[in-house]
Formats: sequence, structure tokens, C-alpha cells
Amino acid sequence: MVDGLNFSFGPDMGHDEYHIDTGEQAEAVAQPRPKVEEVIIIGSGPAGWSAAIYTARANLRPLLITGNEVGGQVAITSEVENYPGFPESVGGPELVEKMREQAEKFGAVAEFDYVTEIGVDGPPFRVETASGKSYRANALIMATGASPRRLGVPGEERLTGHGVSYCATCDGFFFRGKEVVVVGGGDSALEEGLFLTKFATKVTVIHRRDSLRAGAILQRRAFADPKIEFMWDTVVTSINGGTLVESVTLENVKTGEVSEFPTSGVFIFVGHLPNNQLFTDKLAMDDDGYLITDRLMRTSVPGIFAAGEIQDHRFKQVATSVGQGVAAAMETDKYIAELEDRSYPGLESELEEGTGDKVLA
Ligand code: NAP
Repeated sequence: MVDGLNFSFGPDMGHDEYHIDTGEQAEAVAQPRPKVEEVIIIGSGPAGWSAAIYTARANLRPLLITGNEVGGQVAITSEVENYPGFPESVGGPELVEKMREQAEKFGAVAEFDYVTEIGVDGPPFRVETASGKSYRANALIMATGASPRRLGVPGEERLTGHGVSYCATCDGFFFRGKEVVVVGGGDSALEEGLFLTKFATKVTVIHRRDSLRAGAILQRRAFADPKIEFMWDTVVTSINGGTLVESVTLENVKTGEVSEFPTSGVFIFVGHLPNNQLFTDKLAMDDDGYLITDRLMRTSVPGIFAAGEIQDHRFKQVATSVGQGVAAAMETDKYIAELEDRSYPGLESELEEGTGDKVLA
């Protein structure tokens, strides 16, 4: 990989028309875009920004289209405690903002826009956006991530933003001095439930089973927190209130008992669904709607790669999304090198599929 500081694009790289110095993002933005982009990255979570950092440093001038939820899920996560390098933990929004800064420092350009359609007959591939722009790109990296799963109960949609929330970081402040419920039993439910204790007087975690899915450390912390209570074997069947949430209707799944539980806030953390609307009938997906990729992050269409939670229903960590974004970027570089029939820096022979033991120096 190039050093990244004050590098120029030489003719051998197929980019003889411009030059980027580290930190000169304004210059990068001001450069006219080519008719056909080298690579467009769709999505602005950790996978997208990591792919942007690596493709920018590979001189591919990546264009990243952010989507509506800029920063992805980590941008609405209060604290990230397990991302390596941050022993004191780091705020989710701060972490993703630093990734953006780093990508832009190396010349990645971000467009705040939303992709409405892709054309997979390529390269070049077609990308249409909500603002009416139409792009062509030799390669695409899909990093559209996943979005919070809804409970699908009466009152949920109507009261979203009026007491129903999927983001403790965004909305916790509004519940200062109030009692709230958290629905779910995974890491998100406990982590965000713990965060809510900063504001709420009481946080009741409502879980459909009698044991948690969350990791041991979070469980220990939640059980020890005097503001957190648990309600087991219970599901929310309705969210009630006029203009604001006033209560939830609960059902005990073992006894069938129905009750009404007063609360001001309902924070829902019941998992995520992949943001796959763009890919229907275009890219292969599994039964749960995740893009299918191989270990080189290739989708079913050569030249289209995917990284992060759009293709990962197993790990779903910031660190794994970052790694997948990096891998997708490196494979994109290789793909474009082959497309342009130029030599690939640091790679003497083809990477043999499945070995994965060579890295770019
Ligand atoms: P998750 O692990 O899939 O947990 C979802 C929880 O919601 C489960 O407890 C599930 O119950 C419950 N649930 C699902 N559908 C439901 C429904 N319709 N009604 C009621 N409850 C329902 O999701 P997550 O907590 O968002 O975590 C996603 C991934 O991110 C995981 O891999 C997790 O480890 C990771 N993550 C890690 C951290 C961390 O390490 N600090 C923080 C956040 C997230 P069941 O248990 O019965 O299935």
C-alpha cells in the first residue's frame, strides 16, 4: 500500500490528472469527478469508511454515498467498549466521525445522498440517487448495513418519536427523571439500558425468555445496577398513549397473563434487518436477506463487493465490519487493476482464492 503522505498519481496508475496531498480534502472535493468512477461505496458506517480509507490510499478516488443514516448504527451507539485501541471506550458517533475524517484526509469524497437504484450490468455499474444524480463506476462496495428491527405491535409506528425509540444515545436525554422500558435481551438492550440509567429513574428490561442473549460482562453490570429491573418471559403486545407513550400492554408467554405497565418511554432493541432493498433480484442473498459474499467479499456479480452487516449475520461488530471493509477495498483495488490491465503494487502473482495469506505491503 502506498505510504499515503504527499503521493502523486502516476500514469502507470491510470490517474495522471490529479494529485492529492494528505489533509487537502477541499482540493479532493474540488477535483472534477471522472465520467466513470473507479469505485462507489454505498453506506457510511464503519465498513463503508474503512473501505473508503483503503481505496483512497490505493489512489482509487472513492466516492462514498452516505445514505440517510449517516454513520450507520455505530453513530447511534452510546459507547463502544470493545473496539481495539480504545481501552477507555469511545463514543460511537466520535469513532465513526474519526473514520470519516481519516477517509477524507486521503481524498475520499462523501456525498450526502441516498441510493435509490443500482444497475448491475457492468462494469461500469449504474448508481442512481434520490437527488437525481446518476453515476457510473467500475466497482461498487455495498456497505448499507442493517437497521433496527421493529416489534410490529399496535402503537409502535404512531408513537415512534413520541416515546418509542430505537436509539438511547439520541433520545435518552428526553427521559430524564422518567421511567422507561427496554425491549430485548441482547447486547444492545443491556448496553443501551445501562446508558439510559444516566437519565431515567428506572429501566425495566422486558425480555421474551428467561435468560439473556447478551454477553457476560454486560449481564453482570446490568444485574448489579440498582436502576435496572428485569421482566422475564414477557412480550409487548401493544404500545399505548395519546400523543405520547403512556403504557405498554404485556403478555407473559408462559402463563398467558395480560397486564398494563405504565411507562414514558419504550426503547426497542430486538435485533436488526439488513438494508437490502437495492439488491432484490440483482445480487444473491440468503434466506434472511443478507448479501452472499465469499471470503474475498465478492458478491454474486464480479466487480460488486460487500462488507459489514449487509452481508454479516454472525459477527456484527464494529471491528469485524472494519475488517470486512478493508478486505473489500483491497479486493476492489485488485479487481480494478485487472480491469485496467495495470500492474498491482506489491502483488507479483494472482492471489489464489482461499489462501488469503498475502497482504499488500
Ligand atoms: P441480538 O443479539 O439479535 O438480540 C436481539 C434480542 O431481541 C434477543 O434477545 C431476542 O430474543 C430479542 N428479540 C428478537 N425479536 C424479538 C421480538 N419480536 N420480540 C421480543 N424480543 C425479540 O441483537 P443486538 O442486541 O442488537 O445485537 C446485534 C449484534 O451486535 C450481536 O452480535 C451483538 O453481540 C452485537 N453487539 C455487541 C455489543 C457489544 O459487544 N458491546 C453491543 C451491541 C451489539 P432471543 O434472545 O429470545 O432471541
